[in-house]
This record gives sequence, C-alpha cells and structure tokens, in this order.
Amino acid sequence: MEDFKPISGSCICGEIKYTVKSKPLFTHACHCKDCKKITGSSFVVNTSIFESSLDIKGELLEKKLIAGSGKSCKIYFCKKCGVYIYSDYEFAVKRISIRTNTLSNPELFPPQAHIFVKSKDPWINIVNKDICYDEMYDPKIAWPKESLDRYKEYLESN
Ligand SMILES: [Zn+2]
Ligand SMILES: [Zn+2]
Repeated sequence: MEDFKPISGSCICGEIKYTVKSKPLFTHACHCKDCKKITGSSFVVNTSIFESSLDIKGELLEKKLIAGSGKSCKIYFCKKCGVYIYSDYEFAVKRISIRTNTLSNPELFPPQAHIFVKSKDPWINIVNKDICYDEMYDPKIAWPKESLDRYKEYLESN
C-alpha cells in the first residue's frame, strides 16, 4: 500500500471533486437490468473501495434504491449536474462503490469481473470468458488474494 498514490475523480460540472486515498479493492462491470436502467446504457463499471478512503467535496444528492438482491442501496449524485458518483450497498460492509469512469484515470482500473452476463446486451462480446459470471460472484473466488487480505484486515481494524 505504501506505493499507492491517491487517485482523483470528479463529476462533469466540477462541483464534486474527490480523492481515493487507498488502493481500490476490485473493479467489476455489471450488466444487470437495474444497472442498465440506471445508466440508460449497457452496463456500469464500479470500483469497490474502503468507505473511509473517500475524501469528497461538493454537494451530493442521496437516493435510496432497492438493489436487485432485495437489499437496499444508497446512491449519491452531484446535486448540480446529476452525475452518479458512488453507491453504498447494504451487503458490502464498510465498502462503497465508486463509478469507475468518474475517476481521472479509469484506464488504470479495468473490470476484473463481468457480472449478470446473463442479461448483457447480445452485441457485446467479452473476450475474457474466465472473468464472466452469469450473476454475482463470490468475492472469495473472484477477488485477488491481496484484496481479500486487505479487506479482512480493514474490517478487523475499523
Ligand atoms: Zn456536477
Ligand atoms: Zn447491476
């Protein structure tokens, strides 16, 4: 973690500016129907980070949604331009998911998994089938060991 340089992100109007202070845990693309509806597009890319590693400035709008899993999820938008910045899923303890493409260097965080591939748009061809999951994955299997270890350590010390 010592060699990790904080990464920055923002909305489109500049009201929201944020920094992620510690190395993200995992990035996935979700092709579920809810994510498609929310984005109005084919999939979403989310990067999971420690809750306490987000330093955010600007006025956010909070909305509550019921996620596909039936559990609730809070989502946060820029109050001015409406860009969706991050979400806080009930099932993800002390983790939040930032919208990867609100980062200034999203290319550093390509999806490590594609989930809900069963509802992906048929014209999308994911080359790496090894990281495709019909529905959700089990982090214990999909995540790199390094991320699992850091998350475990984080939960124990927070
Ligand atoms: Zn904005
Ligand atoms: Zn989804």
